[in-house]
Amino acid sequence: MATTIGGIDIEVSFTAIFVQIEGRTQILMTGLKVLLVAGTHGNEINGPWLFEQWEGRQELIDTHGLETVCVIGNPAAFEVGRRYLDRDLNRSFKKELLEASAHIDLEVDRANELLALYGPRGRVPSQLAIDIHSTTSAMGCSLVIYGRRPADLALASLIQARLGLPVYLHEGDASQKGFLVEAWPCGLVIEIGPVPQGVLDAIIVEQTRLAINACLESIAEVISGAVVYPERLIVHLHLGSMDFPRHPNGQLAACLHPSIVGNDWRPLEPNSPIFLRADGEIVHFCSEKSAVPVFINEAAYLEKNIAMSLTRREIWQVEESWIENLHEIVAINEIN
Ligand SMILES: [Zn+2]
Repeated sequence: MATTIGGIDIEVSFTAIFVQIEGRTQILMTGLKVLLVAGTHGNEINGPWLFEQWEGRQELIDTHGLETVCVIGNPAAFEVGRRYLDRDLNRSFKKELLEASAHIDLEVDRANELLALYGPRGRVPSQLAIDIHSTTSAMGCSLVIYGRRPADLALASLIQARLGLPVYLHEGDASQKGFLVEAWPCGLVIEIGPVPQGVLDAIIVEQTRLAINACLESIAEVISGAVVYPERLIVHLHLGSMDFPRHPNGQLAACLHPSIVGNDWRPLEPNSPIFLRADGEIVHFCSEKSAVPVFINEAAYLEKNIAMSLTRREIWQVEESWIENLHEIVAINEIN
């Protein structure tokens, strides 16, 4: 059968069309809903811009037959172009906040609302959440996952195999908890930068579009059975975060050393320069082992006392248990 796309004749066999249609029917039958959140931080505006474009041009992102729900995470903060109003929404999904009997603040209300609407047991139940962020750091297009949830690891391995992007595994940090995606059975963050807060950047928008496309394509292939997992996943394990040297009044006593600025994901060797004081004194990386820095100079982390986070690069074998867990989640309604 011949069809014409953009003036080029492409031969597509009946069998190929049948397989494609069958795959899409199978995907719709699972009842899986993928929640896509942007604007969880109200001053990260490239994700919401992409949603607006997508609404008017459905062909912009191929959902591969998946049912998707797009939502602005923190509309009140987005409206005024601020990261948050009362509290960081992406640290508000903590049990003790969500289950508090007294009213706390706007972001905790919003966290509860999002769960009531789109949580796994919400009004429009979603089993999988993709939270779209941008960063002022030179992270490129990257993924962030929290803890070592097997399904997240399986999904991250598929997206990494598609796009070759780095994966930051955030864990074991008592001061940074309550991330949105942790409240869904499976979920990860797309983190893209550098872009200043509140600035629209067509390149960042396009990178976001490609990353969402890769996520949806991977999930659809899991459901249709066409998925091929890579053998390995390269992860960057969170080791800890490092603050700037500060004066007793909390003001910065040093800036990042020029040699480290913009060098996210590039290994930092022991004793290499990291900070530069006003008087020209260089502060060196005091460690016996090298580490891979991420979120270097992220503007929003100044208030969190983080100049950068340090990670260790590891190569993990993709395990059968991860794959099984992801398959259980995406096929959740298949038996209904
Ligand atoms: Zn963010």
